[in-house]
Amino acid sequence: TTRVNDSVKVSGLAIMGGTFDPVHNGHLRTAVEILDRYHYSNLKLIPCFQPVHKDRPSVLPQHRLDMARLAISGDARLSVDSREIDREGPSYSIDTLRDLREEIGPDESLIMVLGMDSFLSLPTWHKWQQIIKYAHLLVVSRPGWEPDLISELSGFCENYRAASSHELQCAPSGRVWFETLTPLGISSSMIRALARKNESIAYLLPEPVQKYIEQHQLYR
Ligand code: ATP
Ligand code: MG
Repeated sequence: TTRVNDSVKVSGLAIMGGTFDPVHNGHLRTAVEILDRYHYSNLKLIPCFQPVHKDRPSVLPQHRLDMARLAISGDARLSVDSREIDREGPSYSIDTLRDLREEIGPDESLIMVLGMDSFLSLPTWHKWQQIIKYAHLLVVSRPGWEPDLISELSGFCENYRAASSHELQCAPSGRVWFETLTPLGISSSMIRALARKNESIAYLLPEPVQKYIEQHQLYR
């Protein structure tokens, strides 16, 4: 570990998957709050090509990728990873995590950050019970979503719940942990709905992304 700005930088990788249709301040604020708490040096946003459990994205993968890249330019700890878009086809998290694990080796901590809404749908994901072999699951609060766990998920949490957040930094994978973050009631669907009505989307997402949406006339 190295000391940077009075804080300890821990080696380890965090990732956040999503449709990012478009990326917004709810995603970005989640990312930086997790980086600050866990002191990881890198968090990758990974836009999917084709979501498995929701409608097709409203705009092309290239637009979603470009907007994500514009959004992260202010923080060197954030990056955008295009592997799911490059891979095409349905984007299964398990494939992405298996790839990443191979790249970083068996010992480094890998954290998949996901909102409570996504976590509640976990039992419908492809090979969901294997995900924990490759990464930790860090579930973040999201306004409007309570941790009402169906039995499959509460059993899963009983098996894998960490005793403290330190376990996520110390072990490579295999733990579930919950974090409460600054509540931001922002969603991509809300931004798309505003744009469709020709109402302002300002301050819900970074200004360069807002400009990009206007220039390319997206979500009209
Ligand atoms: P949509 O409304 O189209 O479903 P979204 O806002 O939910 O979009 P996604 O790209 O589906 O955005 O989300 C990617 C990840 O970010 C998910 O794990 C989701 O739970 C999380 N997330 C999105 N918005 C927030 C938010 N405001 N607070 C916390 N987590 C969020
Ligand atoms: Mg969503």
